[in-house]
Amino acid sequence: MTSESTRIREKAGKERSNLIKFLRDIIRIESPSGGEKKVSGRVCREMKEAGFDRVTVSDSGSVIGRIGKGRKKILFDAHIDTVGIGNIKNWTHNPYGAVLKKGTVHGRGACDDKGSVAAMVFAGKLIKELGLEDDYTLYVSASALEEEAEGKGIREVMKITGRPDCVIIGEPSGLKIIRGHKGRIGVKITTKGRSIHASTPEKGINAIYRMTPLVKSVDAANRAYTCNSILGRSTICVTGIESGGASHNTVPDKCIARLDRRTTEKETKQKVMKEIKNLAGRNGKVEVSNRFFPAWVMDSKHPMLKAAAKTYKTMFGKKPEIHLWPFCTNGSYTMGEKGIPTLGFGPGKEKFCHVPDEQISVDEVLRAAMFYAMFPKIMGTCT
Ligand SMILES: [Zn+2]
Repeated sequence: MTSESTRIREKAGKERSNLIKFLRDIIRIESPSGGEKKVSGRVCREMKEAGFDRVTVSDSGSVIGRIGKGRKKILFDAHIDTVGIGNIKNWTHNPYGAVLKKGTVHGRGACDDKGSVAAMVFAGKLIKELGLEDDYTLYVSASALEEEAEGKGIREVMKITGRPDCVIIGEPSGLKIIRGHKGRIGVKITTKGRSIHASTPEKGINAIYRMTPLVKSVDAANRAYTCNSILGRSTICVTGIESGGASHNTVPDKCIARLDRRTTEKETKQKVMKEIKNLAGRNGKVEVSNRFFPAWVMDSKHPMLKAAAKTYKTMFGKKPEIHLWPFCTNGSYTMGEKGIPTLGFGPGKEKFCHVPDEQISVDEVLRAAMFYAMFPKIMGTCT
């Protein structure tokens, strides 16, 4: 055990109550996608007090803190926007109350993703106060607009930071190291028909009837995918149908099906679109309704993965578990589109994301902060 890891652990322990306070503060500030300005202000203040060398707020409200000016550029990214609360009756505690009970903080965003935000900001504080700066530049980004469209906020962040050498995405991983996830694309298929009075349906063309075989072929395609990637198999699914004639007794002339397609790292947008156009045949017009977020997987021998594993071992005295995420993150942009080495690591359980009674363990947030504080130094000496 190095003296640095001991110092980080001791200092993190002393910061526990400050960390809890900050985490509870940012949970209490509502921050839907596009409405992050208020929480940005709170994060900005915390970064300044923590001693970050420079803190910048982007146009859409992402907060970017910099520490150091060394050679290796490292970006930590976690998002400050959250999804809504759904029906408040399903919550045990006030979703914006940030109730602290038995070492767990409850509230919307606790786990997705404000626990990671708090851990990353406190990592900066630990680095500054313990003098752990080295030949690296660390950017901590509390980014906006993730829940609406992965990649949008972080693109803006990278306009400010420039291209980093590596990225850690802070999303709930239960302190496991994540080396990839599937991608996705949203597509809509439209069939056209010809309206006629419903008393003589055979004289018109029913757009719903034209859609029915396409829906069946989507289901068949989903069943036919085989597993050819570490990410598992591709999936495709109809998630919505819209249609209807002008009235109860009119044959509809238009039907739209919405599809969600999950991809592996072996699939390009072109390949997926070609496949869906084939499914849609002559009668279905295919359009992209939610842009392509590529899948990504980091090589198991990648130096960044080795640095992360070494950080974990140094901090916690054991080997980390290495996993994949089932959901999509800003990693689709950093690694999937830009090819920047990226890993995921964060406190919290994925099962608490986007549901009532979202919560996070303070111990996990603290441990994540320790990992984030140690990683840059180890990564900085990695070639
Ligand atoms: Zn998230």
